[in-house]
Amino acid sequence: MQKAKGTYDVFGEYGKKIRVVENILSDLMEVYDYEYFRTPIFEASEVFHRGVGDTTDIVTKETYDFKDRGDRDMTLRPEGTAGIVRSYIENKYYGNPNVPSKIWYYGPMFRYERPQSGRFREFYQFGVEVFGSNDPLTDAEVISIPVNFYKMLGLKQIKVHINSLGDTESRDNYRKALKDYFRPHLDSLCEDCHVRFEKNPLRILDCKVDKDLDVMKKAPKTIDFLNEESKSHFDKVKEYLDAMNIEYIEDPNLVRGLDYYTHTVFEVEASVEGFGAQNILCGGGRYNKLVGTLGGPDTPGVGFAMGMERLMTALDYEKINLIEEDGIDAYIIPMSENEKGYSIGICNALRLSGYRTDMDYMSRNIKSNFKQSERLNAKYVIIIGEEETKNNVLTIKDNETKDEYKVKVSELVDFLDSKFDAHECGCGHCHE
Ligand code: ATP
Ligand code: MG
Repeated sequence: MQKAKGTYDVFGEYGKKIRVVENILSDLMEVYDYEYFRTPIFEASEVFHRGVGDTTDIVTKETYDFKDRGDRDMTLRPEGTAGIVRSYIENKYYGNPNVPSKIWYYGPMFRYERPQSGRFREFYQFGVEVFGSNDPLTDAEVISIPVNFYKMLGLKQIKVHINSLGDTESRDNYRKALKDYFRPHLDSLCEDCHVRFEKNPLRILDCKVDKDLDVMKKAPKTIDFLNEESKSHFDKVKEYLDAMNIEYIEDPNLVRGLDYYTHTVFEVEASVEGFGAQNILCGGGRYNKLVGTLGGPDTPGVGFAMGMERLMTALDYEKINLIEEDGIDAYIIPMSENEKGYSIGICNALRLSGYRTDMDYMSRNIKSNFKQSERLNAKYVIIIGEEETKNNVLTIKDNETKDEYKVKVSELVDFLDSKFDAHECGCGHCHE
């Protein structure tokens, strides 16, 4: 049996590394004061059709749709925002006096795409959504999250691209101008772009097939169609990014693949050499129409989503390790079958006290047990023979100094506490 196309298993070094990254992520969301949301992996198809947009590639070509046994149309979530908005409305979060609602999520997403490097059918996304404020402060804060996350991980070669689509009025004017511009050039565009031309001409600029055509490069720019209010919103976002010392590139051709964006849009790119074509690490922006579209009260929102696989690849390309191999605290050796029960009791007690503990499950002889303790990089080895079980006094060996101690079972945790405190303090004279 083999894994399904476009999926991958996590184990070994990748497993260790992703856990470190995930922990940094939760810590980061804590310091930003964001609230954790988890929505179901499948929802009624309608949530995504309306939430992501019927004309997007995601909904027209990429969703995993199925009928459940009650003949309902269901879809595996292709992205996080639509489900979060559904939940935000269903749980009446818009009535929460603590505004804005700052939300984060993390988990697997599913898209039926052609698998290639940086593109999977099951992939993990981390994202945030901020609902209830139209202040450019929130746009800037949201952009700062991936930037600071990458900084904390040690990534250096990243570039932030930003643009503004403006409010509905600006966007409508721009749409009209784009249609007028592309109408005489339709023949040179791909078939999908013909549909986009009718349904959502902005997304022609997001086309991966036509992106290098001359006609794309000369297209009208969003920035020239912003009304005063939209322009001022965008200027403030940039001012606040400057205030945080966040560098960015203004990219007038940047539109995002989803239908619901207004005002700010942004992407962060991995610019390290050799990374490959799938180099957009995350993207997002403001979408003031989305909550209303899904049946909630008109509520402004801004957010982004980040692919974890591309981030992991970026870490590899920049040779960032993150894994600290510091070994276990104690390794327990039962001398024979008779001491196994006693040993697992000690092992259990140490684990409950928070000590990283392992034991011999293979009935090894003493020599190969010491080898195993070195493989695990154990700081202490606890040897348990008949004598020890009878007197409740353990033989403990410091694997580094080779010092040996006799310690009463009742004093074992205190003994380790004193040893590890002295170690961690690092002052060099605590031992005396
Ligand atoms: P792309 O233009 O690469 O198809 P997208 O516009 O479809 O991306 P979003 O829906 O905005 O992407 O998702 C945000 C991020 O999620 C992307 O920048 C990327 O890092 C990641 N991502 C999207 N699709 C995949 C996928 N199939 N496999 C792995 N990561 C993905
Ligand atoms: Mg895509």
